[in-house]
Amino acid sequence: MPSLNIVDMIVAKRDGHQLEPARIRALVEAYTRGAVPDYQMSAFLMAALLRGLDGEETLALTAAMLESGEIIDLSAVPGVKVDKHSTGGVGDKISLILAPIVAACGVPVPMISGRGLGFTGGTLDKLESITGFRTDLTTERYKSQLAEIGIVMLGQTDQVAPADRSLYALRDVTGTVEFIPFIASSILSKKLAEGIDALVLDVKCGAGAFMKDEGSARELTETLVSIGNRFGKRTVAWMTDMNAPLGKMVGNWPEVVESVHCLRGADIPDIMEIVYTLAGEMIALGEKASSPEEGRHFAEGAVRSGAAYDAFVRLVQVQQGEARLLDDPENREGYEPAGRVEAHAGGTVAELNAFIIGHTATAMGAGRVKKEDAVDPLAGIVLNKTVGDAVQKGETLAYLYTRSDGRLKDFQEAIRRAFDIRSDAVPTRVSVLIDRYGDGRWQSQGA
Ligand code: URA
Repeated sequence: MPSLNIVDMIVAKRDGHQLEPARIRALVEAYTRGAVPDYQMSAFLMAALLRGLDGEETLALTAAMLESGEIIDLSAVPGVKVDKHSTGGVGDKISLILAPIVAACGVPVPMISGRGLGFTGGTLDKLESITGFRTDLTTERYKSQLAEIGIVMLGQTDQVAPADRSLYALRDVTGTVEFIPFIASSILSKKLAEGIDALVLDVKCGAGAFMKDEGSARELTETLVSIGNRFGKRTVAWMTDMNAPLGKMVGNWPEVVESVHCLRGADIPDIMEIVYTLAGEMIALGEKASSPEEGRHFAEGAVRSGAAYDAFVRLVQVQQGEARLLDDPENREGYEPAGRVEAHAGGTVAELNAFIIGHTATAMGAGRVKKEDAVDPLAGIVLNKTVGDAVQKGETLAYLYTRSDGRLKDFQEAIRRAFDIRSDAVPTRVSVLIDRYGDGRWQSQGA
């Protein structure tokens, strides 16, 4: 390691110079062991955000964060291990449906997921809404379960990318979250530590995503894929639309309910379009299909045969969740709406703002306003209408599940504002798939 003069590094970055990879690695290593104070790291983060980090610097940052912790060795588990990561959205329950489908097609899926972040939901919170479901598995258990049933879904342990944990907390309070090299290195340092061979990314774009515009979503996509490939992991990404919530259920248990419907064969087009596309990619990367198209075909078969649903139930049982709750998920005790939202005018739903829906679901208890808040597993929003649907005045737009009854009126108002209902006819949401990025090039949807 070169000797570290943090002030020189801050000044160099402030003045727009490129930093050698070894210096970036030394900085992250020293910060993680507590040898660099937060005020200097904060100054460095802001200088980097304002002046930029190039591809080599971002790669060095990712490597340093990855090497700050344990890199799990899954070589003893047979098969090509493939995971998927989403940059986060509203109603984004894709992982809950996708992982069992892919596992049922014979590809081992090791998935380390996160909790809800801001207005977006997190897979861990959704899984934990199944009473008893354990997401705090040891590394040994992680490996043995993957070998045994081909699927494991858990949370990040203290040993995985600890530098990301400290840096993320610092970014959160220094206005340095929204910077593509930081987001990419943060995501990939955790994913690369899982011991995977290949990765499929779902980069969300729109009102209900962190990347609101296509330009920044494209840049994030390219950065993620190129770093993933540089680490020797075959990486493919889809950029997908996140202007309206995915499906009709938002919140932790509500999203488990909708996932159960999908795994039992319900065709909810926006959800299943993404699920089958990503499943095709994962199954092909996992070498159980000769192409993503063939992989998609296998995925559809796994849902039709019931094998995918069985894989989900098995996962829940093995991780100690109460699988009987899945039998009749809508009738779970205590899962009752506190109120509904009525349409004030008739027409067609032209837009449904995912950011407002996500933000309101969070306030209703489905997410955390402060880091230490507990989530209410049953809280959320069940939409009765979505983009493209015809609505009559007085019809129900959504059902609200919350224990914050005192704020029900505010929630109802907010949800009503999320709906843009117009009297002139509008087309339905055409496709949630935007573009694919792999092998260094973009392919338009359908091309
Ligand atoms: N998700 C992460 O893990 N890190 C980020 O910086 C943003 C989203």
